[in-house]
Amino acid sequence: MTKTERTYLDWNATAPLLPAARKAVLAALDSVGNPSSVHGEGRALRMLVEAARRDVAALVGAAPAHVIFTSGATEAANLVLTPDYRMGRTPLAIGHLYVSEIEHPAMREGGRFAREAVTTIPVTRAGLVDLDALETLLAGHDKAKGLPMVAVMLANNETGIVQPVTAAAETVRRHGGLLVVDAVQAVGRVPVDIAALDADFLIVSSHKLGGPKGAGALISRGEVLMPVPLIRGGGQEKGHRSGTENPAALAGFAAAARFAAADLAERNGRIAALRATLEAGMQAATNDVIIHGADVERVANTSFFSLPGLKSETGQIAFDLEGIALSAGSACSSGKVGQSHVLAAMGFDAALGGLRVSLGPGSTEEDVERFLAAFSRVVSRRRMTGNAA
Ligand code: PLP
Repeated sequence: MTKTERTYLDWNATAPLLPAARKAVLAALDSVGNPSSVHGEGRALRMLVEAARRDVAALVGAAPAHVIFTSGATEAANLVLTPDYRMGRTPLAIGHLYVSEIEHPAMREGGRFAREAVTTIPVTRAGLVDLDALETLLAGHDKAKGLPMVAVMLANNETGIVQPVTAAAETVRRHGGLLVVDAVQAVGRVPVDIAALDADFLIVSSHKLGGPKGAGALISRGEVLMPVPLIRGGGQEKGHRSGTENPAALAGFAAAARFAAADLAERNGRIAALRATLEAGMQAATNDVIIHGADVERVANTSFFSLPGLKSETGQIAFDLEGIALSAGSACSSGKVGQSHVLAAMGFDAALGGLRVSLGPGSTEEDVERFLAAFSRVVSRRRMTGNAA
């Protein structure tokens, strides 16, 4: 099979580079200068970085001054998840981190908190963070050790399920805590506004939006309460993240942010229609497909499903051989397919594998047709042999 015949249905892993982002990256790569230099070349690049800051801020309704650029969402998570904060110049301790069980490993690992200072918040069978459990955890928090910090993602990367973040924020406020929201899979898919969510910090990533990999941001609500830096040095990003900025990556990130912010409803309507066709097609092909999160609010592009008797790894390889790039929920960096911690957190048998189709602005009806044709073949092979290999 030639490369051009492949069908890319793994937009939650990374989105293909947008033409506008590519153009912006290439133009910036050719610009000489360091954004911190005071000469004309440096100032031109500083202007580019500050324009990118405005575009990324606008994506989540934040002030540009509150955007700290990082090398991606993982670095932003490690910057924000720390027991050491400053309120202005005064040190402020965060005593404990409460992190939802379905967070991406970038958050679930707890950043700079000691293991014993991290507790997971369970989710319900429906895949939603359990607000009663959050209430109980925060009611039992020992404030003598410092403030509680809570991390709840806005949209889950495996299921696409939109989490009750504003309700979680209300609980966090009542207990005087801080709220960190991983919005990586939500921006460009649902409207995101840092004030409406009542979050203290948001995390976003360029490559999930069609920008280049290796750029992201930590966006804060204000400027007074800030984490102690993770990367120290020349004091870039107002001292919050040292190191020469990457203007090319940021220019591409900004182009992707502008794209994500525009025509959201129209784009998502089209993607939702494609997913509806895809899920109806799977259900028509076999009556035992389980579509996770179908009864709750999901971002429009994601479909996470299980076929009893089909392991994720086997399924992923079977689809890959059919020319379809999709993902098992959790792909480790080694390329091995692990068991989905999200399905396990939702109370499903750990042996039940999940497969994730994730669409994007470039997805077409033909992509869905190709997927469904492959799906039928995988299902009939499973019937014949008990697996899809
Ligand atoms: N958070 C979520 C929800 C993600 O899906 C990802 C990427 O897989 C990350 C964080 C990490 O993002 P980055 O690749 O920018 O470090």
